[in-house]
Amino acid sequence: MRVAVIGSGISGIATAYFLRQKNIDVDLYESEGRIGGRIGSEQLLARRVDFGGKNIGRQYTLFREFVRACGNPELEYFGLNTSQIVNGRVVKINREGSKLFNLLRIFSLCGFEGVWRLDPQVRTILNDRSQGVIGSDYFIKISERYDHMTLANYLTRRCVNNLVRPITIRMNGAEPDECFPGNFGSNLALVLDSYDQLKHGMHGLLDSFRVMTAPGSLRVFESHRVTSVSAGSGSEQVMLGYVHRGVTGSAAYDRVVSAIPALRLAVLFDEQQPSVSALLRQIRYYPVAVAIVRYRRQVFKSDCRAMMFDNSVALSNAGAYGINDLDLVRYTFSGRVSRSTVSEFSAPEAVVGLGEEITAPFFNIRGNPREAFVYRYLPEGLCAYSSRHHLLLKNIDQELRKIPGFAATGDYRRGASIEACFRAAGECVEKLTGG
Ligand SMILES: Cc1cc2nc3c(=O)[nH]c(=O)nc-3n(C[C@H](O)[C@H](O)[C@H](O)COP(=O)(O)OP(=O)(O)OC[C@H]3O[C@@H](n4cnc5c(N)ncnc54)[C@H](O)[C@@H]3O)c2cc1C
Repeated sequence: MRVAVIGSGISGIATAYFLRQKNIDVDLYESEGRIGGRIGSEQLLARRVDFGGKNIGRQYTLFREFVRACGNPELEYFGLNTSQIVNGRVVKINREGSKLFNLLRIFSLCGFEGVWRLDPQVRTILNDRSQGVIGSDYFIKISERYDHMTLANYLTRRCVNNLVRPITIRMNGAEPDECFPGNFGSNLALVLDSYDQLKHGMHGLLDSFRVMTAPGSLRVFESHRVTSVSAGSGSEQVMLGYVHRGVTGSAAYDRVVSAIPALRLAVLFDEQQPSVSALLRQIRYYPVAVAIVRYRRQVFKSDCRAMMFDNSVALSNAGAYGINDLDLVRYTFSGRVSRSTVSEFSAPEAVVGLGEEITAPFFNIRGNPREAFVYRYLPEGLCAYSSRHHLLLKNIDQELRKIPGFAATGDYRRGASIEACFRAAGECVEKLTGG
């Protein structure tokens, strides 16, 4: 059996990995000239740096299994060491600090009512980590009961501004009034984790995966944009249409898996199956811009390596790239103000300048020369899901079943984290192969 996987982001890589574990041959189609999608990387002076997902939770069991299978590259502690502005004051939350102190801090950030609302959710996830994904039993119940309101209405204003917004901005690129209680569990699970990152980056891992796969069993077709998926006439096969350097082509497969964001998949079905297209478009994505800047001298101190900003500015957070990279700053722009300030047409230099202007009052930026930077704007940076998301997914799957041999996975299934992408891909492969 040979299966085509559309998209070589972490969802596509995970799908290929699980298929290879079943000894199934894979052709991976990628529209860009390089694999990785949102975990892609770029050269910054002597080093390659990752733009998107790079922090690996201690609870990422599936992804860590994959890391081991790829030669077990070294991990280094990343931690959660951040600060935020609350009513004009800098408030620190430091995982390496006292547990009691952090607990009291969280209490003061979200108030009694916020704690009362979120406590059962936190306990559920701590008791059973598998509940901390989209579509888990517990969060389906929350969704059915509360998804007629947004998170901004579900929780008190204090809790929303001080605790929830920093989370949704970072994990969904969205404001609390653009997110729903039924999807919040997948975010909470991430907050309740602690993090490492790969010492030599995500790109090294992807390279190892390619090298370690038996020759011919995984073929990667870069710069191949898939344009259509349809049932093969008179056979069991699925037809894939694609464009490669302006030339159209097609190929027949035993099975096809989409591992591209919901909005990209919607485009493939616009003409043939507008009903599924319309459903896929109900899933919301928000843009994110990321700049990674190297300065001549240290910007952060080791006890305060990051800052989350509030909804009055375009910069959502600025943080040290790694625990020992205090001179390397990752600026992330997301949220409502960012959307009206930063676009795909913005000059990277201007966006970096804006980030520096916002960050300078708190860290060592002024008089600290910038040595080099890399920048990426992601129009579909982060998925923010939909109200009653599990029901929408059910309807989407019902429509997709009309194409035999086709299945879809991605960040819109179980959550945005790398681990959630792995979980969704594993489930998709099991379904597709009848395992
Ligand atoms: C700034 C940022 C920071 C993040 N940090 C973390 C983190 O620290 N930890 C964590 O766990 N998660 C993190 N995430 C989330 C995680 O990185 C993403 O959710 C995940 O990488 C999404 O992967 P994906 O494969 O589903 O989608 P993508 O990465 O978008 O991959 C889809 C791929 O499909 C290709 N494609 C699209 N259309 C077609 C087509 N028609 N034909 C062929 N190919 C196509 C695209 O070019 C792309 O390569 C972060 C995300 C962002 C944006």
